[in-house]
Amino acid sequence: MVVGSHGMSDGKAANGLGNSPGGCWFARATETNNWRRRSLRLIPKGSHVTNKGDSPQNTLSMSSKKHTSNQSKQYKRHTVTAALPYANGPVHIGHLAGVYIPADIYVRYLRLKGEDVLYICGSDEHGVPITIKARQENITPQQVVDKYHKQIKDSFERFGISFDVYSRTSAKVHHETAAEFFKTLYDKGVFTEKETEQYYDEANKQFLADRYITGVCPHCDYERAYGDQCENCGTSLSPTELGNPRSMLSGNKPVMKKTRHWYLPLDQYEPMLREWILESHKDDWKPNVYGQCKSWIDQGLQPRAVTRDLDWGVKLPIEGTEGKVLYVWFDAPIGYISATREWGETHGKDWEKYWKSPDSKLVHFIGKDNIVFHCIIFPVMLNAEGSYVMPDNVPANEFLNLEGDKISTSRNWAVWLHEYLEEFPGKEDVLRYVLTAAAPETKDNDFTWKDFQARNNNELLAIFGNFVNRTLVLTHKYFDGQVPEAGALSPADREALEQLLAFPDTIGQSLDNYRFREALAGLIGLARLGNRYLTEAEPWKVFKNDPERVKTVLNICLQFCGSLAVLSEPFLPHTAQKLCSMLNLSNLTWRDGGRPDLMPDKHSINKVELLFEKVEDLQVHEQVNKLYQAKMDNQDETEMSPLKEMVSFEDFAKMDIRTGTILSAERVPKTKKLLKVTVDIGLEERTAVAGIAHVFHPDEIIGRSVLFMANLKPKKIKGIESHGMLLMGQTKDGEMTFVQPDKDIENGSVIG
Ligand SMILES: [Zn+2]
Repeated sequence: MVVGSHGMSDGKAANGLGNSPGGCWFARATETNNWRRRSLRLIPKGSHVTNKGDSPQNTLSMSSKKHTSNQSKQYKRHTVTAALPYANGPVHIGHLAGVYIPADIYVRYLRLKGEDVLYICGSDEHGVPITIKARQENITPQQVVDKYHKQIKDSFERFGISFDVYSRTSAKVHHETAAEFFKTLYDKGVFTEKETEQYYDEANKQFLADRYITGVCPHCDYERAYGDQCENCGTSLSPTELGNPRSMLSGNKPVMKKTRHWYLPLDQYEPMLREWILESHKDDWKPNVYGQCKSWIDQGLQPRAVTRDLDWGVKLPIEGTEGKVLYVWFDAPIGYISATREWGETHGKDWEKYWKSPDSKLVHFIGKDNIVFHCIIFPVMLNAEGSYVMPDNVPANEFLNLEGDKISTSRNWAVWLHEYLEEFPGKEDVLRYVLTAAAPETKDNDFTWKDFQARNNNELLAIFGNFVNRTLVLTHKYFDGQVPEAGALSPADREALEQLLAFPDTIGQSLDNYRFREALAGLIGLARLGNRYLTEAEPWKVFKNDPERVKTVLNICLQFCGSLAVLSEPFLPHTAQKLCSMLNLSNLTWRDGGRPDLMPDKHSINKVELLFEKVEDLQVHEQVNKLYQAKMDNQDETEMSPLKEMVSFEDFAKMDIRTGTILSAERVPKTKKLLKVTVDIGLEERTAVAGIAHVFHPDEIIGRSVLFMANLKPKKIKGIESHGMLLMGQTKDGEMTFVQPDKDIENGSVIG
């Protein structure tokens, strides 16, 4: 279900700029200013309740003092990007909380204010991890990204993330845009060119990405460290540091070979970055973002290779560079631009002004691992190109943990969006709410299923849902579903309406400053205020003796409901749509929030439905169990041993492996693991020592068929000469198992 016209499912009118089809609940602000023509008759003369433009009394004690120079700058349009999800796996709650939900709240708010906004995203489909996944699954990289692009796009759509365009970097428009961008910088002489030596796999005739090289970690001697990192001790490595390096493609030892690449000289842009970030964004960027940028710049920036030797990615638009593509860090952020271009081409709109006009406000929503790319590297690219605007803000979030532990996709310690949508149908907004309330805005934060339940039951259901439900049920009961006319206002009524009036600005200021938790607290504060007003007014008791009074009370409560319908839309779009439908409201704008006459007299409301349902203990237990089950399943998986060094057929043919039968077996004294066995190998009987006494009793293996390595050089073990070796397999739990032919064949048959 997608609200209004902003969903991706509505390809034609999905730009949020007001050309929406009928049936859209929320319209741009300019279309519906006629409420101002109606009198604010509810408010007596001399009341403090005045028009919107006045600064509101802050009823929520929210801090919103800071208006920076950038916020006061007049922008004509907003270009909002959300980090491109990497198309080698599905989206989880960490991604949603860190990037997609805050960005979606922000753009929905801007649209309700009537702003010109484009919300841009797409799948990031290049890079080595995708080629590795393709190899593992024995499919092509294109098949990998096709699968995940579709899954990611579908689940965003169902969840109500209202992108104006969701593109992908394997698209033709992206290859063209990225290649053009590179060519412009190349022609301007921005890049430096360098020849370096890199590992090359001669058997596969290709240069090896760092991830494709394994070897011994120089720090901890772990034998399966990767060329970029040792997963045992966590140290970052370069491939030349590895002992005994091996290509993962062929298993061979790679050779050093010369290759030529282009570098972006980040160091040359340091003065620009210092002035732009450290001077002019000192006050309006989040401290975590600013701090990380400062530390990168202070450490000194290095030139960074823009190209690499790989066959999956954007080819270089230069002759004689076959086998080279753009580095994924270079092509991915250009994906925002190509997605915008795709949107422009599809809708017949001028896309360039969203990127190049100085009155366009560019904002990147990302997680903290992406700060350097969006605050330093991509801005350097944009600056070097020369015709683009720089980002106005990059409100990066920290990380979300899950049940006290780091989210891990490889360990399956995650709540996956596509699974949530299946398991909690109709509860998209609950997850949006909980992930906003627990968003890792200023520090890492934790998601727990207990908290999910508590926030649903105690906040959404008990406050928001309960207030709306009581108001609407009473309106049907006492006034036949029509908004009753208010009479004389009591001081409490006036105070409630005054407070109501302030909410759009207070919540809006939080959103303007990327403080989404604070904004959400404002929204639930509005519901709480209405709920308290209703409870204290007790219309169900008063009605019998003073029905006139109840008219006023319910009129005011209905105005609160109307405001909730508007102001909740950015946070809870599905709920807002439902509420609008019950209240029989449409075409609302942000400025309608707080209005004391949003629900006019005699306006008919529709049938009442519940907005939220209780989340039961059982559901919570099921989810927690599922997580721990996944954890256990994962622990069972052993890592696969990497391939050993290649051997020639001649070497292989030297081995004499043949079938045999165990004739006798006995323990080797004073050892735990050793058995002395006699094996009939057809030609003769052999004695061998096998390390299997901890697994097998001698009696149980006598008479067993085995494979026997017959020409291993004899070796003395515990005083016994061992003439050969039993071939054994090992299960993932370390259990030994015999390897034997699946049919009886005579002893001495040669294997090969
Ligand atoms: Zn290590």
